[in-house]
Amino acid sequence: MNPLDNLLPRLATRAIRRYLVGADQRWVFEPPPQGWMPPRLERTSLYLHVPFCRNCCPYCPYNRIPYDPALVEPYTQAAIAEVDWWADTIGPAEIKSVYIGGGTPTLALDSIARVLRRVRERFRLTGDICIETNPADVDNETVQQLHAAGVALVSLGVQSFHPRHLAVLGRSYSPTVAEQALALLAESGFASINADLMFALPGQTASDLTADLARAAQLGANQLTTYPLFTFPYTSVGKYLRLTAVRMPDLRTRRAHYRAIGRWCAQHGFERVSVWGFKRDGVPRYSSVTRDGYIGIGPGAGSHLPDGFVLNTFDLNSWIDAARAGRMAVALRMAFAGQMSGWWWLYWRLYDTRIPLDDLDAVLGQDAPKARLWLRAVEQIGLAVRQRGHIELTEPGAFWLHLAQNHFALNYVNTLWTQARREPWPRAVSI
Ligand code: SF4
Repeated sequence: MNPLDNLLPRLATRAIRRYLVGADQRWVFEPPPQGWMPPRLERTSLYLHVPFCRNCCPYCPYNRIPYDPALVEPYTQAAIAEVDWWADTIGPAEIKSVYIGGGTPTLALDSIARVLRRVRERFRLTGDICIETNPADVDNETVQQLHAAGVALVSLGVQSFHPRHLAVLGRSYSPTVAEQALALLAESGFASINADLMFALPGQTASDLTADLARAAQLGANQLTTYPLFTFPYTSVGKYLRLTAVRMPDLRTRRAHYRAIGRWCAQHGFERVSVWGFKRDGVPRYSSVTRDGYIGIGPGAGSHLPDGFVLNTFDLNSWIDAARAGRMAVALRMAFAGQMSGWWWLYWRLYDTRIPLDDLDAVLGQDAPKARLWLRAVEQIGLAVRQRGHIELTEPGAFWLHLAQNHFALNYVNTLWTQARREPWPRAVSI
């Protein structure tokens, strides 16, 4: 890469984060220092990463490997061992929620049930269990296994009900399979059913999109999460787009799609719960990313601890070896300085589109006045409005602020994950 590439955005990013978070925060992930161990915790959440996929989608940025049934047992044993390692290290904490993602969790439901059993034995599990599911894997047996494992909130990765968009995404199931899977989940007694749908796909129109929303709602989804096609340089999307001679829609199209989603949801009783998420009927919210504090189990799983972020090795075999030997599988850590933890909290409240003002002082401490000043500026340019006790992003605010957030976050994720996928135990990665 030319060192002058993106020089201005990089300088701007550094200046902004230095102003907000302070000069003491080092934006570097590095191997944990000798003797470092996670602190004891009273309560946290848990993320379980299942890395297997039958269908390795070309656009996918996640840490996944082709499904091989022979790998499931070693994976399971390692995951159970890693649960034990965390329990021995942080203590028998309360687990406020469990999120199971991947990869494709529905390829390893027996394994997940065993890992959850160990979680219940070693921790106090009090919260809901959420899981991602794949249309091609959902049948009556899947539903029974999910209920038996105690799963309450289910998300189905529909992406689109249009065959040509599924083909662009390299998805192997047909719209009918996705429709049957969603209808089955919706009638199976889960507390919440989320449908993931993609927008800003090559060639997709706003009416394709609203037809997808309507179909998902008609089939029983009570939460809709819409997200654009991300383009990470390390995925094969660039190559893929060249191969098929299609291009991503421009910013104008993406804006129009976003507006169409908001309008459709407002007209059909779905309230906004995040930048991309909407729900109806007062069901519990299905959410993967907004938790404050969690421990991560699995290859490439991240943990958000009070003193920093840590990231497990991405390499399946290295992770299995470490976990089964009772060693720490953490490859990289970024320590928090100053009020970094509070700024991270604010970042996710912006994602929620709702910032509770009463919590600012407690969470951001001495940085709370700076945050208030910044939020007031956001209000003054019409990107947010003040309500009783909180600030709420307007529709343009949700779009533009998250576009900016996304720019930073995706750059960080891209830099970090590129290195983490290249070698099992990387040296320092500056973000
Ligand atoms: S998009 Fe989902 S199914 Fe496709 S490779 Fe990624 S995790 Fe697997």
